[in-house]
Amino acid sequence: MIAFRVGQGFDVHRFSAPEEGRRLVLMGCDIPHDRGLAGHSDADVMLHALMDALLGAAGLGDIGQHFPDTDPAYRGADSAVLLARVMGDLAERGWRVVNADVCLIGERPKVGPHRERMRQRVAPLLGLPEEALNVKATTTEKLGFTGRGEGLAAQAVVLLQRG
Ligand SMILES: [Zn+2]
Repeated sequence: MIAFRVGQGFDVHRFSAPEEGRRLVLMGCDIPHDRGLAGHSDADVMLHALMDALLGAAGLGDIGQHFPDTDPAYRGADSAVLLARVMGDLAERGWRVVNADVCLIGERPKVGPHRERMRQRVAPLLGLPEEALNVKATTTEKLGFTGRGEGLAAQAVVLLQRG
């Protein structure tokens, strides 16, 4: 009996002020940019959306429940490490990932120059070949908070299989 489950995730982080000197981390990769995203952890908005999609597909709630931002243990946390923990929870329940599609929403930075590095970094964490992890981006035509460059958003969809 093969079972499939779909899950979706969405996340937003605002940009920190340039003088705060935060790194910009997307899909576990350091991305050269004049500002980083603000947040309790490394603020990797794409991996946060991806983890929420995985937890959602498995019926395991969301990352706020698993890694509360009130817990000092997750201050500055590497989201790739948190993703590995989510994958462990899924594996315990017999789930594996079939494919994932992650979309960054914002004007800058552009994903194109970093896409292959992002896939190479995250696909092994998901147990996927790189072709099964899609990384894409869209702008909001300069509209809204992403259009004004106040922050970045990300969406993710995953498919899980068991059996
Ligand atoms: Zn987040």
